[in-house]
Amino acid sequence: MIRFEQVMKQFPNGTFAVKSLDFEIKKGEFFVLIGPSGSGKTTTLKMINRLIELSKGWVRINGKKISDYDINELRWNIGYVLQQIALFPHMTIAENIAVVPELVNWDKEKIGARVEELLNMVGLDPKEYRNRRPSELSGGQQQRIGVIRALAADPEIILMDEPFSALDPFSREKLQDDMLEIQRKLKKTIVFVTHDMQEALKLGDRICLMKDGEIVQVGTPHEFLSNPVNDFVRDFVGSRKLSINLKEFIIPVPAEGGFLSGTKHISLSTPLDEVIEYLASFEQIFVEDNGKTIGMIRRQQALKILSQYVKERG
Ligand code: ADP
Repeated sequence: MIRFEQVMKQFPNGTFAVKSLDFEIKKGEFFVLIGPSGSGKTTTLKMINRLIELSKGWVRINGKKISDYDINELRWNIGYVLQQIALFPHMTIAENIAVVPELVNWDKEKIGARVEELLNMVGLDPKEYRNRRPSELSGGQQQRIGVIRALAADPEIILMDEPFSALDPFSREKLQDDMLEIQRKLKKTIVFVTHDMQEALKLGDRICLMKDGEIVQVGTPHEFLSNPVNDFVRDFVGSRKLSINLKEFIIPVPAEGGFLSGTKHISLSTPLDEVIEYLASFEQIFVEDNGKTIGMIRRQQALKILSQYVKERG
């Protein structure tokens, strides 16, 4: 449905944002682009609705080159959800949702019914919310409006650029659940950018991991967990699940070292969630790298770091 063929983007300052992308997103698929900051995810996303023009190659939607579509028609057929909540502050919620349906000349009744249907779909009572201004909604509610606004004119494709990353963990989880429910019902083709592996594994039918403007691996969440193609993928799936590195927990082994035997030894590449499980049964764990003990993790210390992390980042 969306095909990238040898797509390259070089910005005028010389930066190669993406080098040569070849992949296809299938109809009805929830496709997640993930990777470190600067890996080319947003550039890839924005090339689909021509917010960024390609330097080389082709992007085709349903077989037709995107450059052959009328640009307005192309954009109206592609919903777009941004990270920062971008509702029009002076307009009511209903008016915000109706922007694209108005542009494509739906009649008033059809628009009213659609607004009602969409608000119900995300659990906001139309009677209560239709006439409110965005400032009278919580951040999570506003972003929910951002999502249904993108769906309003029933586009085939939805592009989502880190749509939930500015939300608190509770709202983020709620919106992810909403998104799964919406996708189960509507079967849109969704391209979703995130840097959160947990989110990618939860939402994606397939995940595309990028690095330095290139694809490292494309596959289902199961394939990422069971068959990472290299250490970069393994690290991304493992430690990134909590986006916190095992090294942060390691402290030096005391010089006397009398208690080295009889306790758990793990390797430096052990995923953090496994480490946490071990810490449930062992007060301390020794960490080895290339057969050498490089330090230890103590339960108390690890808990302190984790609680600090949760406080700061949720
Ligand atoms: P990501 O979304 O993965 O963080 P981007 O697609 O935003 O990555 O950026 C990829 C690379 O292109 C980065 O090195 C970034 O600095 C560069 N880049 C993005 N937009 C521009 C621009 N308008 N001009 C020059 N360089 C850009």
